[in-house]
Amino acid sequence: MTKSNRKPFLMIGVLVLSLLLANGNALLSSRAQGIDLAGMDKSIDPGDDFFSYANGGWLKAVQIPPDRPAYGAFDIIAEKVRTRTADLIKGAGKSNDPEAKKIGDYYDAFMNEGAIETKGLTPIKTELDEINNIADRAALARVLGSQLRADVDPLNNTNFYTDRLFGIWVSPDLNNPTHNVPYLLQGGLGLPDRDNYLSTEKNGVELQGKYREHIVTVLKLANIADAEAKAARIYDLEKMIATAHATRTDSADIQKANNPWATKDFANKAPGLDWTTYFKAAGLAGQPTIVVWHPGAVTGICALVANQSLDVWKEYLTFRAIDRAAGLLPKPFATERFNFYSTTLNGIPQQSERWKRGVNNTSAALGDAVGKLYVKQYFPPDAKAKIRAMVKNIVAAFGKRIDNLNWMTPATKAKAKAKLGTLYVGVGYPEHWRDYSGLKVLRDDPLGNSQRSELFDYQWTLSKLRQPVDKTEWWLNPQTVNALNLPIQNGLNFPAAMLNPPFFDPNADPVENYGSIGAVIGHEISHSFDDQGSQFDANGRLFNWWTPQDLEHFRAAADRLAAQFDAYEPLPGVHVNGKLTLSENIADVAGLSAAYDAYRTAYAGKPSANKNALTDDQRFFIAFGQSWRAKMRPEFLRVILATDGHAPDQYRADTVRNLEAWYQAFNIQPGRKLYLAPEARVRVW
Ligand SMILES: [Zn+2]
Repeated sequence: MTKSNRKPFLMIGVLVLSLLLANGNALLSSRAQGIDLAGMDKSIDPGDDFFSYANGGWLKAVQIPPDRPAYGAFDIIAEKVRTRTADLIKGAGKSNDPEAKKIGDYYDAFMNEGAIETKGLTPIKTELDEINNIADRAALARVLGSQLRADVDPLNNTNFYTDRLFGIWVSPDLNNPTHNVPYLLQGGLGLPDRDNYLSTEKNGVELQGKYREHIVTVLKLANIADAEAKAARIYDLEKMIATAHATRTDSADIQKANNPWATKDFANKAPGLDWTTYFKAAGLAGQPTIVVWHPGAVTGICALVANQSLDVWKEYLTFRAIDRAAGLLPKPFATERFNFYSTTLNGIPQQSERWKRGVNNTSAALGDAVGKLYVKQYFPPDAKAKIRAMVKNIVAAFGKRIDNLNWMTPATKAKAKAKLGTLYVGVGYPEHWRDYSGLKVLRDDPLGNSQRSELFDYQWTLSKLRQPVDKTEWWLNPQTVNALNLPIQNGLNFPAAMLNPPFFDPNADPVENYGSIGAVIGHEISHSFDDQGSQFDANGRLFNWWTPQDLEHFRAAADRLAAQFDAYEPLPGVHVNGKLTLSENIADVAGLSAAYDAYRTAYAGKPSANKNALTDDQRFFIAFGQSWRAKMRPEFLRVILATDGHAPDQYRADTVRNLEAWYQAFNIQPGRKLYLAPEARVRVW
């Protein structure tokens, strides 16, 4: 799926992710086997609205649960996975195994609301004291450095958000992928994006007002004097930080991100922050080079560190510390956090039940430990073998597509085939598991557990700087419903949790699995060969292996696809951003095409299940359309349209209009709304 960066098959706003934690009652169980015939609406012409043709019955029957911003195929799977994971976590607490016990303790601590009320603000007192004691710029740099965490991932998970001043990501070096380097990203905002602060539109201005009120409320809850005036200054500082920030589109442009700075040059390139002190406090002293993803923002923010008063910085850091911790502070804080970030920002009326949030938090903090339990129970070798076979067929289909391209030069084709040959495809779970023996978990300290887990993860991340590159490193947990392309590693991750209906059903007719998970597999493969993939060679080095002519053809096709998506208007006056979502949309076209070829090759001539008078090709496309079933609240849709590299799900389902086979399968004639003249259909691969 693409966007101008590659990434998670689906991406939920980071703020939302951190708040979601579970939703509720299974409104609908996932379909037992194969496509959901009752969920279709055959009164709709597939040529006019394929998404509703495939999903109309389901859309009518389903309501978005009150604790969710949206509800769809991913949520259906996530519910099932969460129920399973909850059982595993609760069971783990009864175990004598030290790692399993840690899982149980983490969960029990999260559930211990009484302890949270009793402790009040005590768990963050040390942090608040440190901030309060800042007496000079060196102390400010030390506190800022000590707060640095590995909470961003600009390339694999396309997570650009951190509320800390900067964020760190560690990955193979873009310029020499035989060793790992740290990447430094912009941060420091409470709202998700710079545009939230700079918008002059009615919705944007309203949100700015509500965010200011939120800051006042949080300060007052913490009994901080002079809350209104302080909140105004805090907001103004954040707005200045936002002004320095790169845009979301620029963040996704890898060429703008490849800025290796020698650490000794930071003081010249980004004056204002005492970098020596900062790096020391961050555990980065001695690191020779850091790649600065957002050079303009880092420079701009450091200027603010120097020219804004220490008092304003202390006020800002105090607010940030309380706001960040609020979900695990006494109820008034947690409620205010939910009210603003979930309800106001994303339209979620009701918080999910605590146990669900506990499961999600535990699963995030002890990802591999929980994942190990999950795959043991729910991902049998047989399912892994089936997916592996599909991967093999789809890789072969993709290779054949490369062979048959008439626009790509032979030299470039040879490089593409070489890259396909070194692709690592991770299925189900990582090749080795993370060791959590160094993480301290206390049964009565949920916030401390969360903070220690973030620090543990940061230190683990920094430890990669001293180790050889692991090309098979995983960037998702097995119990996460998503899939990833890892450009520098030339690898893919398909976690066990993603391999559930409606994406994959080991008991379904293979034709339908190819339409759903097959298209996902093809999507991720194609990211290795798209506008971003063309910038990473078979070894993962940032190196354009395409000729200018190759790129020109690709861009021409891409421009037509961008225009196709620009024309969609999900909210009055608000269109899909064809450029922002371009890479993902290209990958959808490519993935669906490769999956179609693979299924035709593997099953040509075999007897069809032919249920309910649907042809194999029809069921292939319906399975694809149903894998994108989703409903979204308008507030959330607005956030997605502004920040997500993926188009809203219904338009991803309409990708079918670019495939000739879809026109034949449903006899789509000129005049239908989704009809595209053959020359307007986009075929890249
Ligand atoms: Zn993608």
